[in-house]
Amino acid sequence: MPKFEVVNTNPEEAELAESFLRECREKGMQPIEGELEKTEEDTTMLEEVNTILVSVADRFNLERENIDSHSVHILSAEAFMKQSPYKTGGMYKPKFESIILNDDALKNKSSRIKTLLHESLHAISHRRFFLQEDGTLEPYRVGYSNEPLRGGYNWFEGLNEAVITLLENTLMRAHASELQNKFGIAKGDITQAIKKHEYFERFLYRILNKVAEYRNENYVAVADRFVKGHFTGEMLHLKDIEKVYGPKSLRILAMLDDGHDSRPEQVALRNMVLKYFSVEDASQREEMTKDVFTQFKVVLQSKEAKKDTPS
Ligand SMILES: [Zn+2]
Repeated sequence: MPKFEVVNTNPEEAELAESFLRECREKGMQPIEGELEKTEEDTTMLEEVNTILVSVADRFNLERENIDSHSVHILSAEAFMKQSPYKTGGMYKPKFESIILNDDALKNKSSRIKTLLHESLHAISHRRFFLQEDGTLEPYRVGYSNEPLRGGYNWFEGLNEAVITLLENTLMRAHASELQNKFGIAKGDITQAIKKHEYFERFLYRILNKVAEYRNENYVAVADRFVKGHFTGEMLHLKDIEKVYGPKSLRILAMLDDGHDSRPEQVALRNMVLKYFSVEDASQREEMTKDVFTQFKVVLQSKEAKKDTPS
């Protein structure tokens, strides 16, 4: 079973949180209503992903973790929508340690294995949980993402997604011919699947290159540090972003979301953050700062309003 950490310092609370989490993990391994049986190919895909995860662990000097087949659930689109607020190909539930795949959205083999790899990289990320005063247990950190306790904003959700995308795309490229042979995937199919989320990769690539330039390091060293932080929870190296882009830039980066929310105010904020990091001129970026913070307030207010509306 993958490791997890509890944030509570009171030993009684920590113990309670751990037993609660173990219960959730057990639940996460039980079949979900409407779950489809895994095909032989699905099982082979998971084996392949687990092999890739071992190579990631060894490369970054991490404890090896593998994904248990019982924690992976394949659902029809209809059943998937009962689990997820967004119409995506897959999702990862940190508390239950479970990966849920949307079968209808993943008929294409390269998208299917890429999504399984993506969710698996979430599943082996740095995870910390916190038992709240009201007895509910919530994730506190998942990778770089600082989860909102008591309904706050999910800081660094976009960076988290970008780091995973960068690693996942790199792995897909590195294993492309092997995947093509093993699963009969057509040439070019993997490139096509990678293209879908390339904007995150390009965004991060630009930032990492700037950091590398600033620190006089090579790109791979910087990229490795950022990827490793996703697994270890280290975040201090993010300070380099402020050195390159200015004092408020890290706060602005933290506002970037994972790209799933299509409400206009969130989309506007996302585009502003992406644009901010593409602008070369420091004074031009400085000018944009105020608008980003204003838009951020709009998003927070709309989240508050949403919370108050009974659903
Ligand atoms: Zn993701």
